[in-house]
Amino acid sequence: MREYKVYRIENGTVIDHIPHWNSLKVLDLLGLRQSTDLVTLGIGLDSQHMGRKDLVKVENRELSQAELDKLALVAPQATINLIRNSVRVEKLKVRVPDRIEGLVRCPNTGCITRHEYVPTRFDTLSREPLQLRCYYCNVSFQGDEVELL
Ligand SMILES: [Zn+2]
Repeated sequence: MREYKVYRIENGTVIDHIPHWNSLKVLDLLGLRQSTDLVTLGIGLDSQHMGRKDLVKVENRELSQAELDKLALVAPQATINLIRNSVRVEKLKVRVPDRIEGLVRCPNTGCITRHEYVPTRFDTLSREPLQLRCYYCNVSFQGDEVELL
């Protein structure tokens, strides 16, 4: 019940079940540090399934599919609640897409995508734990090495 101590919003999006401390990455990937609307952050809330979790509430903002795909990379278990007129109208889970194009940097410094203008592309090998493989250099890597572009 403790999460309800976090400020309620009238219209906007509640992103729940973010891994502990990854809410800061969520702020960056959604560009929320520049937001003029109210952003509420909960860090280290109790969670039955995750031990501790983070929560982000954004007023007057709904997320695009591209934003949900990005979000899945730093918060694979995130739950998205859409709030309109103080009522939750939709609840959905993010899902890492089978193929990720142009969102992530390849960790292999010898990869062509690091030296020429080639948009990055990765195949998802596993979602839990998250594992991606670069289409160009075949290097695979874990979710905690994901660096967003
Ligand atoms: Zn690569």
